[in-house]
Amino acid sequence: MVIKNMIRALKTVYTPSVTRLYPDLPSDLPDRFRGLQKLDKDKCIGCGICANTCPNNAIKIVRDRRWFPAIDIGHCMFCGLCIDQCPQEALSSTKIYTKELVTWDRHTLLFTPAMLAREVPLKGEGDE
Ligand code: SF4
Ligand code: SF4
Repeated sequence: MVIKNMIRALKTVYTPSVTRLYPDLPSDLPDRFRGLQKLDKDKCIGCGICANTCPNNAIKIVRDRRWFPAIDIGHCMFCGLCIDQCPQEALSSTKIYTKELVTWDRHTLLFTPAMLAREVPLKGEGDE
């Protein structure tokens, strides 16, 4: 058994690595990847369908001059239902999934409409 395991280990020395140098090298993501949502405020009518659709109650409709969704990313499972159900196509998905979202403070995971619309820079934006 020991010899068998040693042979197996030695064989892997010459095989290419299957691990990735994450987070130094970000993964290639498919076009349909569901990452952090992006809000187009011009399209949004504040109807609240996204909030009613969300299975995790991660979306609240808040007032920011008009009514817009705010998303608690700490509760979001990135299912994409809010995007699919939006009648205005105001929400879309991006490939952001790490540096802008990883935090020690869960309160920073509440993404306001301004953050979703990228009117304010996201933490770590541009690093990825
Ligand atoms: S993002 Fe879409 S579904 Fe959500 S409030 Fe705006 S228009 Fe309605
Ligand atoms: S992606 Fe899914 S869980 Fe996240 S806010 Fe949208 S509906 Fe809710």
